[in-house]
Amino acid sequence: MFYKYALNYPVLSITLLLILFTHPISAKSNGDNTHFNQNIDVRFQSNISSDKKEILRQWINHSSDALTLVYGELPVDHFITKIKFSKRDSGVVPWGEVSRNTIPEVTLVVNPKSTLNELKADWTIYHEFSHLLIPYDAADSRWFSEGLASYYQNIIQARVGMFNESKMWQKLYEGFERGRKDTKYNHQKLNYLSDNINQNNSYMRVYWSGALYWLKADIALRKLNTGYSLDKALHELHKCCFDRYLSAGEITKQLDKLTNNNIFTSLFTEFSKSYILPKYMDDLNMLGIEQQAGRVRLGNKAENSHIRRAIFTGK
Ligand SMILES: [Zn+2]
Repeated sequence: MFYKYALNYPVLSITLLLILFTHPISAKSNGDNTHFNQNIDVRFQSNISSDKKEILRQWINHSSDALTLVYGELPVDHFITKIKFSKRDSGVVPWGEVSRNTIPEVTLVVNPKSTLNELKADWTIYHEFSHLLIPYDAADSRWFSEGLASYYQNIIQARVGMFNESKMWQKLYEGFERGRKDTKYNHQKLNYLSDNINQNNSYMRVYWSGALYWLKADIALRKLNTGYSLDKALHELHKCCFDRYLSAGEITKQLDKLTNNNIFTSLFTEFSKSYILPKYMDDLNMLGIEQQAGRVRLGNKAENSHIRRAIFTGK
């Protein structure tokens, strides 16, 4: 789920004639992993023409390639992507959601008039696919899973070439700013706010506190210089633990165990109790990111500018 159209969207009651299409994933490894046995079943609503299906397949192929740029393979070997057409004539992808069944399902509602370039430029699919990076159905600590998707949607778009490093950090910075300004419920802890998001609509603080959690964990891991990054930690999690349901707290414990530290659990405790979006400007400055009048500038003299660059490149 995501916040853009999360409210009052009419329930779609379209009868689907599901057409199964097995979509081989091209090997695009950023490490030493090859993956030949992964596939996505793309299921189209029945009234979609074959020409349009071809465009939609190219879009899904491009976006799944972007997802493989986290650690060289998809986080799940097999998942379903359902494509429906929007009844409204606005937006490009007005709705997306992920259902974590035995086989995960990503549903995307697409404006039928959208071109391939417009589809690739829309963030929704990158966000929904990024949800698959943890074995988790977002039933508890939604800030944790929405934060992961909000963080990686920008990273994988940049890594697949949709925008440059500067724009990637601009988007993250703007997200943190939106979260910082969402102070209406600053008498409530993030955990409580997140559990009641459908009543308080505090999407900005919940989503961007979450994204900041993952950025801070990523920086802390990379600073240890033990070869770990968030990309690599998630890959280890993929290898060990995708055969079971894990709560957010259990995921943090597992990530700490896999990376030999307590970064994920200690930040999790800190963020769960936060009353506002935790501070982020110092972290950005240390990465060599300055802002002036809301525009970010990247510099390479800061202590951790190599980390900033590595988050962008995935190396
Ligand atoms: Zn989401």
